[in-house]
Amino acid sequence: MTRIVQKYGGSSVATAEHIKRVAGRIAARHREGAEVVVSVSAMGDTTDELLTLASRVSANPPPRELDVLLSTGEIVSSALLSMALHDLEVDAVSLSGPQAGIRTDSVYRKARIAGIDTARLERELAARRVVIVAGFQGLAENLDVTTLGRGASDTTAVALAAALRADACEIYTDVAGVFTADPRICPQARALRDIGYEEMLEMATTGARVMHARAVELGSLYGVDILVKSSFDALAPGTLIHRETTMELGNKVRGIAHQEHVSKVTVRGVPDRPGIAALIFEPLAQANISVDTIVQNASVDELTDLTFTVEPGDLDGALRVVNDAAAEIGARDVVWERDLGTVSVIGTGMASAPGYAARMFRTLFEAGINIEMISTSDIRITCVVASAQVADAVRALHAAFELDREPDQVTGARASGGGAGAA
Ligand code: ADP
Ligand code: ASP
Ligand code: MG
Repeated sequence: MTRIVQKYGGSSVATAEHIKRVAGRIAARHREGAEVVVSVSAMGDTTDELLTLASRVSANPPPRELDVLLSTGEIVSSALLSMALHDLEVDAVSLSGPQAGIRTDSVYRKARIAGIDTARLERELAARRVVIVAGFQGLAENLDVTTLGRGASDTTAVALAAALRADACEIYTDVAGVFTADPRICPQARALRDIGYEEMLEMATTGARVMHARAVELGSLYGVDILVKSSFDALAPGTLIHRETTMELGNKVRGIAHQEHVSKVTVRGVPDRPGIAALIFEPLAQANISVDTIVQNASVDELTDLTFTVEPGDLDGALRVVNDAAAEIGARDVVWERDLGTVSVIGTGMASAPGYAARMFRTLFEAGINIEMISTSDIRITCVVASAQVADAVRALHAAFELDREPDQVTGARASGGGAGAA
């Protein structure tokens, strides 16, 4: 028997009508004979609304209570979806993350899945029920409810697919798959037929929120093929995220990702001696603050500057930690900047061909965009730029790397080299 895990995002279950439509699709798969498990997100902007509500009653809500609060959004949609299925005469059962056996560590707001006890899920499937699991949540060892981080219903789905050894994992969202850039700011972007885990992971960690990065990581780890599809356009084929990618001759850049808002922190006048970076970054890690791009300047008179970026929500926490660390190591001061964003060019082919960085920098220069910081991996180049210029940067790079064309349309001249001029 075919076993399928599906995930429906917030916009796919935004209203009662949406929920009924999704129920219709699930019912069809169930009637075809498949075993269906669903990870569902909270309706529309519920999670944001709950966060706003919390901020109205408390200036500093305890993370534990925030998790209890936020987990309710997904519980509401799971129960409604199950009801809609019953209306279609499909036996269904809604389960919260804890009821579904999803165990996590105890890091509130950003918990990681430790394992899934599948006994209850298997029992429900054996009884021919559709199982609707509230996404984005689990149970810590101390029996507290935890949430898995924004966008993590994707991760719930892939974890369920791995634990249940599902034959397919389908992520339904409001766009027709993974595009060469965010179609909302780059109208020329096109949906990819497929993409490898590695490239998708870089896209997701640098801002392509169509897939939660940890979901891609789990997919890669457990060999779960992930099909990303539109919940509105049933005919669109979607994008397969998997180990192999088809040979897309001629264009070694697969996509452009962006983050509209990041914050930058600079510790100035840092004594340049061994161990200093650890003294700054260890307490950040202990405070669960993830740091992105890091740049250390060449030192002058044995003093250096250390700059890094964080998500805007982490800026206040980062400043608290870093001010203490800076005082301890005798750094001159700490300065910060908010209105920044990032734009990243991603593709496995970049590892083996020169010229990509040069083309990226020239494109941004010609678009009048100043680069504040640069970071790279084997398959990615990221530039930090002004927040207001991020969208222009994405469009300019999308055109410069000819991502609007189908790969086989790209000319032979392009197929043979990385780009205009060596790096
Ligand atoms: P869901 O609620 O279904 O989880 P999300 O809002 O989390 O949906 O993710 C879908 C959104 O991701 C799209 O509406 C799109 O604006 C954005 N997005 C960013 N980058 C990409 C990309 N490369 N391909 C597709 N969508 C992208
Ligand atoms: N509802 C959660 C969020 O908005 C989880 C998700 O949608 O995946 O982040
Ligand atoms: Mg999402």
